[in-house]
Amino acid sequence: MKAGPITCLAINPEFSVSSNQTAAQAQPALPFLPFTRPTIDDETITGVTEVLRSGWITSGPKVKEFEAKLSELFSGRPVRAFNSGTCTMEIALRIAGIGPGHEVITTPLTWVATSNVILDVGAKPVFVDIDPRTRNLDLDRIEAAITPATRAIIPVDLAGQPVDRDRLYAIAKKHNLRVVEDAAQSIGSTWNGKRIGSIGDFVSFSFHSNKNITTTEGGCLVLNNEAEAKLAEQYRLQGVVRTGFDGMEVEFVGGKFNLTDVAARVGLGQLPHLESFTTKRREFARLYFELFDTAAIRPLSLGLPPADFANSNWHMFQVILPEAKLTIKRTDVMAQMHAAGIATGVHYPAIHLFKLYRNLGWKEGDFPHAEYAGRNILTLPLFPTMTRADVARVVQTLTTILQAHQKS
Ligand SMILES: *Cc1c(COP(=O)(O)O)cnc(C)c1O
Repeated sequence: MKAGPITCLAINPEFSVSSNQTAAQAQPALPFLPFTRPTIDDETITGVTEVLRSGWITSGPKVKEFEAKLSELFSGRPVRAFNSGTCTMEIALRIAGIGPGHEVITTPLTWVATSNVILDVGAKPVFVDIDPRTRNLDLDRIEAAITPATRAIIPVDLAGQPVDRDRLYAIAKKHNLRVVEDAAQSIGSTWNGKRIGSIGDFVSFSFHSNKNITTTEGGCLVLNNEAEAKLAEQYRLQGVVRTGFDGMEVEFVGGKFNLTDVAARVGLGQLPHLESFTTKRREFARLYFELFDTAAIRPLSLGLPPADFANSNWHMFQVILPEAKLTIKRTDVMAQMHAAGIATGVHYPAIHLFKLYRNLGWKEGDFPHAEYAGRNILTLPLFPTMTRADVARVVQTLTTILQAHQKS
């Protein structure tokens, strides 16, 4: 299963004709189509080389420059950079004073990092089911999940589709809850014209290789004020505070979460392309809708994402296979797509059904919408350097496979 950052490092074998095909059947080999691919320009590669030659390769001037550019992007809010998106959420929870005895509300349909960080700080994740339309946390279910122990909500903008920020913050304000936005997938998305990251409480972004912009690995946290930013710096590096040339103090335990200048230079080369990357993604998402609208699998009612061309950055294009109408399992659909030279992904299996979480008491049936999506969701290729012909090939291949395996 290609779920999550680690296993997403998909091998990209060249599409080759299998040995039992005759020469007459053999198609000209099309290049293997990954489901995503980072776009790194030559200027960035040159810039990285310069950093490597500069004599300063770990956290230094490039990280500062990257943080300043990110802050500019997010309307001047304080931003600090880290070596992952995951640690930024853990640090936000710690800054908010959340730990043992506290509960944090989140979605079961996300990368497992989202709920693991809640366990990491010693708090308890409280899942609420998704809205099957948006595939995000169902805001109608949040208030029923709030208890006296609730301290925060971690909403996730799955596939770049933002959670309704107006309703979210109205609930948070009413119940005096902190919000740690898991915006790992939604850089470049907006809510009612305002950029995600420029509004709200804590906002966490990831720059993992598969995200819309990357630092190879990395992340950043948007904070509310300089006091929080100073704490974030301490949590980022062993709790250390330096003063003058020789002063050092440690007041609490921090981790080892600093970004390198090499990685920051990659990020600096990505930021100028954010808008054009998003534009390309939107173009291909639109084409997916057009082609699926005319595709012969319409009677199967393949589940499509909300057609949001105002807010979403189209981090992913995900369909939901209609399991009741098919005689083929998702894993076999993926295998057949792979055999046809097309990678697909699963983002994500429902978290509460992982062994770790079952052992904490969750079970099948707890969150039916998330479970259905977790079993049937399929991420199709979408990235800025693919072509319109690639999109057509994906739709055609998937259509052929599903048509051949319809229940009669
Ligand atoms: C990528 C991702 C993360 C974690 O980011 P890393 O940089 O890999 O630590 C967290 N949540 C979601 C929804 C993600 O997609």
